[in-house]
Amino acid sequence: MFSDNKQYNAIGSYLKSQFGCKIIKLSLDGGFTCPNRDGTLSNDGCIFCSHKGSGDFTVPRDIHVQKQLDSQIERLTPKWPSGKYIAYFQSYTNTYADIDTLRQLFYESLSHPHVIGLAIATRPDCLSEEILELLCELNQKTTLWIELGLQTIHEKTAQLINRQYPIETFDKTLEQLNKRQIKTVVHLIFGLPNETRNEILQSVQYIASKDIFGVKIHLLHVLKDTPLSQMYDQGKVSTLEKDVYINLVVDALELLPPEITIHRLTGDAPRNLLIAPRWSTDKKSVLNGIDAELKRRGSWQGIKQLRINNE
Ligand code: SF4
Repeated sequence: MFSDNKQYNAIGSYLKSQFGCKIIKLSLDGGFTCPNRDGTLSNDGCIFCSHKGSGDFTVPRDIHVQKQLDSQIERLTPKWPSGKYIAYFQSYTNTYADIDTLRQLFYESLSHPHVIGLAIATRPDCLSEEILELLCELNQKTTLWIELGLQTIHEKTAQLINRQYPIETFDKTLEQLNKRQIKTVVHLIFGLPNETRNEILQSVQYIASKDIFGVKIHLLHVLKDTPLSQMYDQGKVSTLEKDVYINLVVDALELLPPEITIHRLTGDAPRNLLIAPRWSTDKKSVLNGIDAELKRRGSWQGIKQLRINNE
C-alpha cells in the first residue's frame, strides 16, 4: 500500500513519486525571531525551545539565504547528483517580518535552480491576511507547505509549555490556509510534561480529523539552557522511555488517515545540546523499532480509521 516497504506514508516516498527523483529539505535560517521570545507575547519562549529557535541544524544566521542554499547543495550533490531541494525556513517564526522582507526572502530562495519548493515553519498567530495572500501567490507557482507548531491540543499543557496561543487560533488559521488550498504540516510533541498516553492520542485524533497535508511527530527533548532543562534538573519532569515512545508512535500512526504524509517520527536533537533522553541519538534504532512494532502488530497507518469507518 505504501512505497519503499514502509507501513506508513513517508514524505520522502511521496515526494519521490511526485517529482521522480530524490527531494531533500534544506534547513535555513532567515534571520527571524519569535513573538514568544522578543517580548511581544513573552520573553521566555516555549519551554523546550533552544537558543536557535528550534533551528539547530541550520547554518549561521548571518549568512545570506542564497549562500546557505549554495553551501548545502554543494555538499549534498556528490551523494545525490540528480536530487532537488525544498528550501525549509526552520528557525524561529518564519513569517514574523514585514511583507516585503518575506516576499524577497521566499522568492530569492525559489530562484535557486535546484530548489523546487518551499516549506515554512511558523506560529498560527503569525499569518496575517497579507501574508496569507503572499503564500497563496507562492502556492500557485511552486510546491509549498506551512508547518504549524501545535504540539498539543490540551490547554493546560499549552500553558505549561508557554505556547502563548489557544487551540482556536490554530483552528482558524488552518481554515484560512485550507480556504487557499495551502498545504499544512502539523507538529506534535510526545512526552510533554504531565500528559498521559490518552491525552497524547487525543491530540493525534484531533489532527487526524482535520484537513491537513502532513504530520511531524517529535519526541520531547530536554536541551541545555532551556526552561525545560531547569524543570528537569529540579526533578519536575521526566522523559519517555524508548519502548513507550515507539508504542505511542505506532498507536498514532494507526489513527492517522493514510493520505496524511509523515514528515518525522523521531526528534532530531543536536548531541551537544541534548540532556535527555540520550537513547534518541540513535535515530536509526528508533525508526527500526517503529517498523518492527508495526510489523509485529500486522498494522499500518490508518488501520484504526478503517476499523472506525467499517463499524
Ligand atoms: S514558537 Fe517556535 S521559535 Fe517561538 S519559542 Fe516556541 S518553539 Fe521557539
